[in-house]
Amino acid sequence: MTATDTHCPYCAMQCGMTLTPEIPRVKLEPRDFPVNKGGLCAKGFTAADLLDHPDRLLTPLVRKEPGDRTSPLREAGWDEALTLIAEAITRSQREYGPDSVGAFGGGGLTNEKAYTLGKFVRVALRSASIDYNGRFCMSSAATAANRSLGVDRGLPFPLGDVAGARTVLLVGANPAEAMPPSMQYLDAGRSAGAKHIVVDPRRTTTAGGAHLHLQPLPGTDLALANGMMHIAIREALIDEAYIRDRTSGFDGVRAATNAYWPQRVERMTGVPEAKLRETVRLLATHGPSMILTARGAEQHSNGTDTAQAFLNLALALGLVGRPYAGYGTITGQGNGQGGREHGQKADQLPGYRRLDDPAARAHVAAVWGIDPDELPRPGLSAYEMLDRLGTEGGVRVLLVLASNIAVSAPHSNRVIDRLGALDLLVVSDIFRSETAELADVVLPTAQWAEEEGTMTNLEGRVLRRKRALPPPPDVRTDLEVMADLAGRLGRGRFFTDDPRAVFDELRRASAGGIADYSGITYERIEAEDGVFWPCPATDHPGTPRMFTDGFPTASGRAKFVRVEHRDPAELPDREFPYVLTTGRNMQQYQSGNQTRRVKALNVALPEPRAEIHPDLARRHGIADGDLVQLRSRRGAAVLRARLTDGIRPDTVFAPFHWPGANALTNPALDPHSKMPAFKACAVAIAPLEKGTGF
Ligand code: SF4
Repeated sequence: MTATDTHCPYCAMQCGMTLTPEIPRVKLEPRDFPVNKGGLCAKGFTAADLLDHPDRLLTPLVRKEPGDRTSPLREAGWDEALTLIAEAITRSQREYGPDSVGAFGGGGLTNEKAYTLGKFVRVALRSASIDYNGRFCMSSAATAANRSLGVDRGLPFPLGDVAGARTVLLVGANPAEAMPPSMQYLDAGRSAGAKHIVVDPRRTTTAGGAHLHLQPLPGTDLALANGMMHIAIREALIDEAYIRDRTSGFDGVRAATNAYWPQRVERMTGVPEAKLRETVRLLATHGPSMILTARGAEQHSNGTDTAQAFLNLALALGLVGRPYAGYGTITGQGNGQGGREHGQKADQLPGYRRLDDPAARAHVAAVWGIDPDELPRPGLSAYEMLDRLGTEGGVRVLLVLASNIAVSAPHSNRVIDRLGALDLLVVSDIFRSETAELADVVLPTAQWAEEEGTMTNLEGRVLRRKRALPPPPDVRTDLEVMADLAGRLGRGRFFTDDPRAVFDELRRASAGGIADYSGITYERIEAEDGVFWPCPATDHPGTPRMFTDGFPTASGRAKFVRVEHRDPAELPDREFPYVLTTGRNMQQYQSGNQTRRVKALNVALPEPRAEIHPDLARRHGIADGDLVQLRSRRGAAVLRARLTDGIRPDTVFAPFHWPGANALTNPALDPHSKMPAFKACAVAIAPLEKGTGF
């Protein structure tokens, strides 16, 4: 049997692996690829379990009684399912207009699929209604980087550079659990004398191994960063020459951070002044230094400004664009980087172009062979679109690809209620996810190892995910489905189901854009172990390290942006006295639709655990292992308690890989990125037996 080199289906590290189809199962082995260097985590090692899983969807499903979601799903042929969808689209658009049909995509889609989904909605549906789950993931750091650096590439340097940094500040990141093979770089740095500082309300595995652990109240990271800037200025640790020569706007930041004196910041965040000072001194004098943020800092109603505050600090210390130094955000989803570049965002065209930019519209329309005026205007962001489903002016027919929004969206009870108000819900998935269970039509799609495509990992390295085996006989790729549907809607001439042809078109559509892929080919990716964008010509080497000579802003300088602390959208009070924060466990991925079905992972972690400090537990008569009910203003969830003194006594942690955590979370949106406030809301807690009701 032929061995195929490919990549893990899960997170943004995109670890290299080799698949060999053997009877009766596929053999999966780690591969010595530059990102993972032969390492895999438990999720990666068990990924082949998904391929022949007994829960696998093998045929389309439709409701036994059309329009009645209480009737069971039954097997159907492709023609029946696609005819039903095409007729519903046509009917809805005739009655309610083009925007009444929309799509919700995902950061796990290959570049080819994300690109085609964006094009399908704009060209085949002629609708403005599209967004995706990356809005819930990367949008805040992306917005900050775009406005400050002129470009959003999560890590503007290869991951391996982390090993060369002598001080690393990790804010709201837990790579030891989220992407364990990445720890080899942090470990190598530590062995060479590097100091790591972790900012997290929990003493995570990553925090436990760090030189310093700063444990702020969730929602106060911006104040923490501004406090660090205050100290850096007062102690003359900023890089005046770098600020003068390479940036603009520092005076506003200097003025704003005057008010963040250390004692005040200690009161706001709970982080002792001595730790703040030590952090700043290490960053400034024990370089090269890096500041890396992740969802803990970014998933807030002020997430953009929080990421900006750390980016400001990195600029003031002169880190950005220097070897083994800088600012980066750690992308989470498998194609979280490429998925946010090529048009499945409500306001975006391929190449990270803006949909409201006339020149971008003209360029992409020419590649697509349409008149620029045919392109719709920007639509609503993810939660805004979901919140209006089935309402007047809202989407009435929704296609969901690679996303389990019934579990992963904030205020999930509201989202489930809105999904129920749709005229037609279509879900493409490999399993009957919680969202698929609500659908009128479920389409079985090919898996990661069954189709060709490219992914862009957390470093901006474009990779090939190769087909190692064919999909089951009655399973289709999303490219095939979109091309077929476009044909039924009279727009088939604009679409192809060939991934290589799609990628070549994507290259042309991205040419000249911020995320320029025009010089990247399937052959180069193969020969060079991936190619870093921007890569504007086939003889261009790609760009592993950015900002060495300047910034892609109008002035060529990085921009400081003045930002101020704002309280989280919801503060604890008498009825809901604690702060809930959500996050990941090592054994699970995203909504758990895949990993909850892998036996080895489930044995290791069969259910969600709410982490509670023993002092808080004692106050409520909760023992380790008890079932507890968490309540917020939006819903309730039951979890088993795990007592740990590694969490603040005023904070409760719940993992989001199971239904429940997002019944509690607050959909208040960041005004710039439209990121919901996943990481801080007010909750009450009680042992289940005492029954608080809801
Ligand atoms: Fe897969 Fe991420 Fe684990 Fe690597 S770290 S094996 S990409 S889940």
